[in-house]
Amino acid sequence: MTIQELKEMVVEANKELPKRRVVLYSWGNVSGIDREREIIVIKPVGIPYEELTVENVSVVDFDGNKIPGEKNPLNPSVDLDIHRALYENFSSCNAIVHTHSTFATVMAQLHRDVPCFGTTHADYFAGSVPCVDALSEEEIIHNYEWNTGMAIVKYFCEHKIDPAEVPAALSVNHGPFTWGEDCWDAVHKAVVLEEICKMAVHMLAIEPEWQPIPKVMSDKHYYRKHGANAYFTNDDHGHGMVRSK
Ligand SMILES: [Zn+2]
Repeated sequence: MTIQELKEMVVEANKELPKRRVVLYSWGNVSGIDREREIIVIKPVGIPYEELTVENVSVVDFDGNKIPGEKNPLNPSVDLDIHRALYENFSSCNAIVHTHSTFATVMAQLHRDVPCFGTTHADYFAGSVPCVDALSEEEIIHNYEWNTGMAIVKYFCEHKIDPAEVPAALSVNHGPFTWGEDCWDAVHKAVVLEEICKMAVHMLAIEPEWQPIPKVMSDKHYYRKHGANAYFTNDDHGHGMVRSK
C-alpha cells in the first residue's frame, strides 16, 4: 500500500464513524500505520469529519513528529500518543479507532468489562472486552495520553490477553478503543463493540447478575471464524463498509 492509499483509507474510515453513528461532532479518531515506512496517518485535532481530506490528514513518524515533505497543515489528534503506545506494543495492530460511542462509554464509565453474553460478541472477541485499570494521579497529570495507551497494554500483558484475539478495550471513565488488520477492520470492530455494549447494558438493566454464555459456545463461535481451524472465513471484516469503488 502506498502512503497515498493509506491516507485515503484513514480519511474514508474517519468519515465512516459519524455515518455508523458511533461519534458526535469530532469525538473520535482513526489512525493507520505503515510499519515499513515508519509512519502513522491520523485524523488531525478538532477538524470536522466532512472537512477531512488526504491534503490535511496528519502524517507523523513513530515518535509523533510531523514528516518533512508532507503538507501536515494541522496538528495530529491529541490522542496520538494513545495510538503510538498501542502500535509500539501490539505488533498485530495496523489501525486503531477511538470513539465515545454511547453504550461502550457507559460501560467504561461504570468500570465494567463487557461480558460475552451471546454469539454476536463471540463472533468477534475471544472473551470479555476488558475495562482496563484506572491511571494514578501522577499518570493523569503527566503524559496522560501515553499512559492511557499503556494502561491498555499493561492490562493485556498482566492478564495474558492476546490483542489479536480481543481487539478492543475500554479505557476507564473514558471510552472504547478498537484495533484491527486495517482501518476498515478496526472501524468494523468499533461498530460491533458499540452494538454488543448496547445489548449488554440492556441485559444488565434487566438482570444485573446475568452470566456469560458457556465457554464452549463462545469458543465455537470465535474459532470457527478465526485461527488455524476456521471454517467460516467469508466475513468481510468491515471491507466494503464505505462506498464501493
Ligand atoms: Zn476520547
